[in-house]
Amino acid sequence: MVNLTATLSTLIAANHILDYLNVLDPFGHISVRNPNNNDTFFLAYQMGAAIVSGPKDIGEYQVSDGSAVNGTRGGYAERYIHSEILKRYPDVNAVIHSHSEDVLPYTITGSVEVQPTYHMAGFLGDDVPNFDIESVYEATDPHDMLVNTPRLGAALAAVLGTNTSQPGAPLYTTALQRGHGFITTGTSIEQVTEFAYYATSNARVQTRAIGLSASAGMGIDGVHYLSTEERRDSKNMNIWISYKPWKQWVIQSERSGMYVNELGTPPV
Ligand SMILES: [Zn+2]
Repeated sequence: MVNLTATLSTLIAANHILDYLNVLDPFGHISVRNPNNNDTFFLAYQMGAAIVSGPKDIGEYQVSDGSAVNGTRGGYAERYIHSEILKRYPDVNAVIHSHSEDVLPYTITGSVEVQPTYHMAGFLGDDVPNFDIESVYEATDPHDMLVNTPRLGAALAAVLGTNTSQPGAPLYTTALQRGHGFITTGTSIEQVTEFAYYATSNARVQTRAIGLSASAGMGIDGVHYLSTEERRDSKNMNIWISYKPWKQWVIQSERSGMYVNELGTPPV
């Protein structure tokens, strides 16, 4: 049995780091699969990531349908993002949903796709699909852009695609949500935190590169993105090196004095 205190301490630290790095606004969230039970996952209650402090702030939910278990009551209306991704992809253990303002413009400009601009964004791979919730709305659904039912969560999870060489993993790590934000997935809290940060960093770099290219009289075509081989090999590097930024971010967020982790510093 895995020590759940370490898992929850790491989840709390990730909430703080994602606030510290401005990846999450007060409505973003991160989940982790229960390491002792593949059928449930942990996700903070409805509160800003910065103020998640202890086990009392974290709920446990069924992967099968997002329902609350083990004394959990209520929670995020959007927890079906997490349940449906964890259900469809058994190799995924952690999911982040963000409303990053750096990424949002790419969700609403159909002509400019997110592309990996530098080596820390190789995990974005060959495509970052853009999920348009309008395509799956039914007549009676409120059009509030929220992925707040298992059906909408399943439709979002599906855009990550099928990886024929590793069926338990998605084809793409990351997807946009039109007019809403993005999701990214990983095998651990540390890895998905790295992916979420570098998804926002990459968006900032790409936006500047496009602007620079435009000011030089070139269009989008003037920007040179990573090749297919560079994306693949950089992704492998991104995966094994996730321990490094994680260790720094844990210490930085702790020393900022802005956060409380009742379970102490997570193992690094
Ligand atoms: Zn949202």
